[in-house]
Amino acid sequence: MSHVHPHIPSGGGSQASQLRVSVSELHDGPLRRELKVTPTALDLSDSTYRFPFDVELDLTFGMIHDQVYMKGRATTVALTECVRCLGEARVELVAHVDVVYEKNAELLSVESQALGDADGSLAYFNGEEILFASQIRESLMVELPEMPHCSEDCKGLCSSCGSNLNQGPCGCASAESESTSDDCSSQSWQDALRKLKLD
Ligand SMILES: [Zn+2]
Ligand SMILES: [Zn+2]
Repeated sequence: MSHVHPHIPSGGGSQASQLRVSVSELHDGPLRRELKVTPTALDLSDSTYRFPFDVELDLTFGMIHDQVYMKGRATTVALTECVRCLGEARVELVAHVDVVYEKNAELLSVESQALGDADGSLAYFNGEEILFASQIRESLMVELPEMPHCSEDCKGLCSSCGSNLNQGPCGCASAESESTSDDCSSQSWQDALRKLKLD
């Protein structure tokens, strides 16, 4: 089992400034940004998953006419409970980021929230700078599995005694085979019946 190092919050201000690109930086051509940010800076949180690790970003920004695009990858590891055995499930998240930002200052405030388009492919910016934290967050959130497992072949818990079957057989299986060998009692019952018929 790997050890989880909790975050030591480091000045949120510098992190927030990493999560923006000013349009003036894109006039000379595409810009590549490789960053490591805290989940807190991305406001990454969920009711079932924990995010104890940094998020690595490899992003390319560019401009086509008035639109700005952001392409690349966001990776991190999320932790939660395995749905079968209740042990720790470690989920490697690799989100493919592909967003187009349209210049629209009015939509920016109201509808960009409401639209919250499922694939996160369209967003808005004010014409001057791209604030991309929420698009990165969305791209990671959609990758969270609904039924996380600690491993593909997790054996789960015994339905009778609750033992974790990944740690070996619990003994219920052999108890079950004993109870099926109770057939001998039904055997004697059949014998009794046969005698009855013979009489
Ligand atoms: Zn499991
Ligand atoms: Zn059992």
